[in-house]
Amino acid sequence: MTESINRVAVVTGGSRGIGAAIVRRLASKGVHVAFTYANNGGAAERTMAEVREAGGSAKAYAADAGDASAIQDVVHRVSSETGRLDIMVANAGIMLAGPPGDVSIDAFDRLMAVNVRGVFFAATAAARVMPEGGRIISIGSCLAERSAGPGTTAYTLTKAALVGMTRGLAYDFAPRGITVNLVHPGPTDTDMNPAASERAAQQRTKIALGRYGSADEIASAVAYLASPAASFITGAALAVDGGFAA
Ligand code: NDP
Repeated sequence: MTESINRVAVVTGGSRGIGAAIVRRLASKGVHVAFTYANNGGAAERTMAEVREAGGSAKAYAADAGDASAIQDVVHRVSSETGRLDIMVANAGIMLAGPPGDVSIDAFDRLMAVNVRGVFFAATAAARVMPEGGRIISIGSCLAERSAGPGTTAYTLTKAALVGMTRGLAYDFAPRGITVNLVHPGPTDTDMNPAASERAAQQRTKIALGRYGSADEIASAVAYLASPAASFITGAALAVDGGFAA
């Protein structure tokens, strides 16, 4: 609690799944967490209530991650309201599966807007107001390291783009003492990829540990990268995938 007291974080896509677990985990460490969501105000309310019941502090903002100016606005509002911003977790992402020839131009553009452009502008807006010691962490995917089958090319290329973005921004923000890292989750039990679904059985065969991860297991890695203990890690991609890429 003491190591991070008074710190402020923004987590994009924090109403459900991995993002909600990250919100709860950072809040449990004394961080005030501002998080965004797309449409699901009920889920955002539930995440805020869980944080507050546990004695933490969180506030939700409706902001489409595909709208770069909306993210910049949230960062500006949070840093103005709280007087600081120490941690940015760019987690919001959407999935698109199916044959590449069936991907429409609009669907491709939407995927890029949420999964790549939104992450870039979340990171750059945050860095503008962060002090030395700031932390930028993005959520990629194990598919960025190992394309384990057909039908995910468009999604995979957005997550692979984050590898280059992370390495570049690590250099760009290093002079200011801000670290930039990427977490690659493996198949993780959320609404996006339920462990009980039919396609889960096939995914499980590719995971060395033979099981899905939990959102809390991804949050553990993010909390570590956000902590002072990770001060010498930047430009890195950390696989939290049960051995999917092994
Ligand atoms: P979920 O679909 O379960 O949850 C998505 C969250 O992001 C929700 O809070 C949702 O808000 C929010 N969100 C979605 N689109 C937008 C948007 N345009 N603007 C703002 N918020 C948005 O996803 P996961 O928790 O499973 O995934 C989180 C991240 O992890 C994603 O980047 C995903 O690609 C990545 N990932 C997930 C894996 C998995 O197996 N689950 C594996 C590898 C990577 P709302 O509630 O309003 O809809």
